Amino acid sequence: MTTPLFRDDAYLRTCEAEVTGVNERGGIVLDRTVFYATGGGQPGDIGSLELSDGRQIDIAATVFGEDKASIVHVPAEGQALPEAGTRLTAHIDWARRYRLMRVHTALHLLSVALPFPVTGGQIGDAEGRLDFDMGEEKVDRERLIEKLNALAAGDHEVTTEWITDEELDANPGLVKTMTVKPPRGSGRVRLVRIGGDVDLQPCGGTHVCRTSEIGELALGKIEKKGKQNRRVRIRLTD
Ligand SMILES: [Zn+2]
Repeated sequence: MTTPLFRDDAYLRTCEAEVTGVNERGGIVLDRTVFYATGGGQPGDIGSLELSDGRQIDIAATVFGEDKASIVHVPAEGQALPEAGTRLTAHIDWARRYRLMRVHTALHLLSVALPFPVTGGQIGDAEGRLDFDMGEEKVDRERLIEKLNALAAGDHEVTTEWITDEELDANPGLVKTMTVKPPRGSGRVRLVRIGGDVDLQPCGGTHVCRTSEIGELALGKIEKKGKQNRRVRIRLTD
């Protein structure tokens, strides 16, 4: 089991950790990490692991292990692997992660500005998209981007809270994204709240602390995907 330090503090860029194992595919498992593992539409972190002698192992991807509890740091090709017990310092590519956090939080706001059921989504570096089940409903581009930027500029606080699986079952309306099932099994589910009541939904990703950090957003292409779905793209402008 890897302690996911990013879950309590998404702004941690670095941490000390110990190698608990290297899997058969060369993935490095640590006892604790600041590296977000791919999940919930958000890509895993890239970065490096710094050994005490100054050597660096470049990390090209981060994923969950098969047990879903360990986090596997996947080295770039041709890197020398550390042994279990090695102490090191983990560094994420912060510039990239911060853009992912801004885009991720912006997509929560998009689901507020366009209040239709979400059927899918993807968070990228400086841009992201959500698919909405909205039938023949038309999107007013100008109104949408105005609403979205007003929500971001509103400087709403982003906070997390935990509820039990039973509480979630009693409030099915909390789940906006039908294709991304909230993580279960631990008996509790993490909710992300924006402002007092701007948005509240289960989410395990990393977000900015205040919506003003997102900055000005631009609306990309809006595409029809199948009979019901509209794919709406947004991007950061700085
Ligand atoms: Zn989220």
